[in-house]
Amino acid sequence: MASGNAIRGSRVGAGPMGEAERGESAPRSRISFWCANKHETRPSFAAEAVIPETWDCPRCGFPAGQDEDNPPAPSRNEPYKTHLAYVRERRTDADGEAILAEALAKLRGEI
Ligand SMILES: [Zn+2]
Repeated sequence: MASGNAIRGSRVGAGPMGEAERGESAPRSRISFWCANKHETRPSFAAEAVIPETWDCPRCGFPAGQDEDNPPAPSRNEPYKTHLAYVRERRTDADGEAILAEALAKLRGEI
């Protein structure tokens, strides 16, 4: 597996020295996460970091978990990313409107 990565990793100028430097400055551990599409992502965490239960798959946007055989279920009927981005936008807008409305109400009450 990962023949493509092997080719990429052997490219001249990839900087093995830079990697060694980074590895020495802070001990890091790589944790594997798998999404429902079986994509593996291995973010690295500082030794003292709290490892999250899920990680957003960088390839498809699904939540990924540490159990390869039992990845977190993605939102139903949602291809990827758009749903989450949409919800986040909506939520932010709604919060902003609520705060604005409250501020206006207070203002009007005081005048
Ligand atoms: Zn994925």
